[in-house]
Order: sequence, then structure tokens, then C-alpha cells
Amino acid sequence: MNKEEFVYYLKTLGVTCTKAQLEKLEIYKDFLIKYNTHTNLTAIKEENAIYLKHFYDSLTIAENIKEQNKVLDIGTGAGFPGMVLAIFCENTKFVLLDSNNKKIAFLTELQKKLQLKNVFLIHARAEEYVKNHLEEFDIVTSRAVADLRILLELSLPALKVKGLFIPLKGNIEKELENTQETLDILNGKIIEKKEFVLPKENSFRTILLIEHTKSTDKFYPRSFDKILKKPLVKRK
Ligand code: SAM
Repeated sequence: MNKEEFVYYLKTLGVTCTKAQLEKLEIYKDFLIKYNTHTNLTAIKEENAIYLKHFYDSLTIAENIKEQNKVLDIGTGAGFPGMVLAIFCENTKFVLLDSNNKKIAFLTELQKKLQLKNVFLIHARAEEYVKNHLEEFDIVTSRAVADLRILLELSLPALKVKGLFIPLKGNIEKELENTQETLDILNGKIIEKKEFVLPKENSFRTILLIEHTKSTDKFYPRSFDKILKKPLVKRK
């Protein structure tokens, strides 16, 4: 997807792109390619692929972000989807979190270059950060970080009641098979499932909107090894 195609396909998402936003993405793309030559940030290194698989893909959830929202992006990596969304939603506050400090160092330099005042970078593990930031966010996003059941435990406690967790996924059928109990325990409800293919190369995508229906027990999230080893099941 070249730059012109990117602008065209964004319109089909209902997203318009200003000259200033396009320039910021150009700086982002150049800096990502350059930084990636000495620090491993992403396997996607080619210009057109960055526009499609990082920039366009991140913006497929843009319509769900509202002004004055506070958004947490868990496992943001090189800024996807959080940093891209922040370029398009300057009146929304984005907390981009990753446990890998190399990614946060890259994002710190990038944020300076892009002069984004609505981005806050956090080097931490999600389960530890969320413990101290319960019910703080309107939206939590996450792409390519973990299985849905794990993500639910990391994200739902961080959301205000009625807030939305929006994971960006590929084919999610298998992961969905065993999530109902986790949703019940943490007070989450899937209110929408959007399925589509990416333009040009047709890879399958699923976006879920999961509402935090009421406060989650403060016992969650547990430590990461417990989340991994002991999937949530209701205590009888
Ligand atoms: N979201 C980005 C994307 O779509 O390109 C990055 C995906 S990368 C495969 C997964 C990222 O999640 C890594 O940068 C890793 O450091 C981070 N991560 C994994 N588990 C985490 C946790 N418990 N807390 C914070 N970050 C985590």
C-alpha cells in the first residue's frame, strides 16, 4: 500500500488524513526503518508494508476513539496501534505501555520528533501497572501481545465501568471458544465483533468491542505467571 493508496483506503474507514498527519507518518516510517537497522523493533521493514500493516491496521479502530478519552495501549511495541492513533486523535490522551525498554526508548525519540503532547510512555509490565491504575481508562487497546484470556485480565481492571477493551486480532475463533468464563469473572461483555480483510493482501482481521460491565474484583490482575498457569475458572 503506497501513500496514495493509504489515503484512499483511510477514507473507506471514514478517516480523513491532513497534510500534517501524513508528514508525521512519513517521519515515523523513516525513523522506524532507520532505528530497525540497529535495534529489532518490527519484522515489517518495507515502506509499503509499514503503511498497510502498521499504519492502516492501527487506524481500523480510529472510529472508536472519542475526544477527551483516556486510552491505554498494552504492549505497544513500536507504537501500534497507540502512537498512530495519537497522531490522528490529538485531543485524546494515550498511555503507551511496554515491558521492553528498547521499544520505549525508540518511542521517546519518536515522540520528540513528532511533537505529540497527548502521548505518555510507560516502561512497565501491564499486570503491575494496571494494579495501580484500576478503572482509570475509557479504552484499552492491544495488538499482537497475548491470547485473549490473558489480555482480558490485563485490560478489564484498568477500564472505567462502561469502558471498552478493543483487541486487534487475526482469526479469533479458537481463542473465543474458552473465554466466556473469564469474561464472566472479570465482568466483561463482547458487544461487537467486526471481521474484515486488510486491503491489497487480504489478511483476516477481527476487532472486538468488549465492555467493562461493572467493577472487577481488586484481586485481578494476578501476577503474570499465575495468569499464564492458572486460567480463570469460577470458584465453586
Ligand atoms: N503492539 C505492537 C504491534 O502490534 O506491533 C507490538 C507487538 S509485539 C509482538 C508484543 C509487545 O508486547 C512486545 O513489545 C512486548 O515487550 C510487549 N509485552 C508482552 N507482554 C507484556 C506485558 N505483560 N506488559 C507489557 N508489555 C508486554
